[in-house]
Amino acid sequence: MNFSDSEIVAAILEEAGFGSTKDIKEADMIFINTCSIRDHAEQRVRKRLEYMQSLKKKNAQLVIGMLGCMAERLKTQLLEEEQVLDLIAGPDSYRDLPRLMAEVESGRKAVNTLLSMDETYADISPVRYDSNGISAFISIMRGCENYCAYCVVPYVRGQERSRDVVSITQEAEVLFQKGFREVTLLGQNVNSYQWTRDGKETTFAGLLEKVALVNPLLRIRFATSHPKDLSDELIQTMARHRNICSAIHLPVQSGSTRILGHMNRGYTRNQYLERIAAIRNLLPDCAISTDFIAGFCDETEEDHKETISLMEQVGFDYAFMFRYSERPDTLAAERYTDNVPSGVKDRRLREIIDLQQKLSYQSNKKDVGKTFEVLIEGFSKRSDAFYSGRNPQNKVVVFPVTGNNPGEYVLVKINRFTSATLIGEVT
Ligand code: SAH
Ligand code: SF4
Repeated sequence: MNFSDSEIVAAILEEAGFGSTKDIKEADMIFINTCSIRDHAEQRVRKRLEYMQSLKKKNAQLVIGMLGCMAERLKTQLLEEEQVLDLIAGPDSYRDLPRLMAEVESGRKAVNTLLSMDETYADISPVRYDSNGISAFISIMRGCENYCAYCVVPYVRGQERSRDVVSITQEAEVLFQKGFREVTLLGQNVNSYQWTRDGKETTFAGLLEKVALVNPLLRIRFATSHPKDLSDELIQTMARHRNICSAIHLPVQSGSTRILGHMNRGYTRNQYLERIAAIRNLLPDCAISTDFIAGFCDETEEDHKETISLMEQVGFDYAFMFRYSERPDTLAAERYTDNVPSGVKDRRLREIIDLQQKLSYQSNKKDVGKTFEVLIEGFSKRSDAFYSGRNPQNKVVVFPVTGNNPGEYVLVKINRFTSATLIGEVT
């Protein structure tokens, strides 16, 4: 999501006459786009600022700005804590960047952290500056109002708002004409996308269908789905269109109904499992990935075991796994105690990671002998003798180079695999 925001920032700055450089030492202004989701993310930014300080020592004119969620969370406090910063801009104030930069040039520090109720940057066509020319992100909504107890997003990204459906389909059309063959529709909770114009309502399933109809050669992905809002209509829409990829990222966070209640997730273990059954029923080859948080407040050994058993029951293809990190101002920080000892959090996370490694191994093993449609993205990282692409399930597939070009689809039969890659040959 941050990457997608940086593409919007690049477009706004380009429009204002600024160019970009890949060599940081050449830059007159450096913006760091930040994340606040876990404390670790913020600590990494603080380290990066130390490096910025060293650059500024060599070039006193250098302007350093902080963008995004950490800028929004800490606002002017950052100017006191981090002398190196000249500019602070929250996620809804990127249009104001040229004015903020002018303010800095006139010798003042500049801050805008106002959140908006309607900013979606719908009319801005992102600069795809670090792109393979094949796959791109399209932001379809901003903000979140789910207030999961652990999560800082609603505070730093503001109210949920959906982007005009027409601007989304147009962006997909333009990308397709430019040669892109895969778009990922992005939002914190895409299933609650909703756009109403002239009394006509578009749901996420409706939007997905419209984007799928742009061209059968354009692949569609989306993230992230919230289990409480994943509709049957969405699953049916996926089943109807071959170019909507068979992959759903459905963060569960915990396998314990008690902890899910504590987290304010809005579903129980059984309701989650019921959604998984609905997906498997209509989309038998659909990959399912998830997120886990280990060691949330009051999590007992029993709760943790329920997470482990849910993992075994579902057999996730892939997962992002985190240890709980208390975030200031969240419901959990205000109301609960971060009372799972650090060593216990680490051990539970380790058990989750170890099990997921086994599950991912099994998931890859099942693919040996199967043939997948792969969209070629370019040469593999290791060798120009191999192409790399993804199958609909979002797994990286590597195979010997053929006469085909990046952006084309090929059928690849899988012969073997490593922990992160399927390896095969074009059939
Ligand atoms: N909107 C998405 C997730 C956005 S954040 C959703 O609702 O699923 C991505 C992931 O970061 C979350 O799914 C969660 O697993 C993790 N996360 C969020 N806040 C966290 C915290 N305070 N500590 C640890 N992990 C956290
Ligand atoms: Fe955070 Fe929950 Fe919103 Fe996801 S749905 S961004 S976890 S508050």
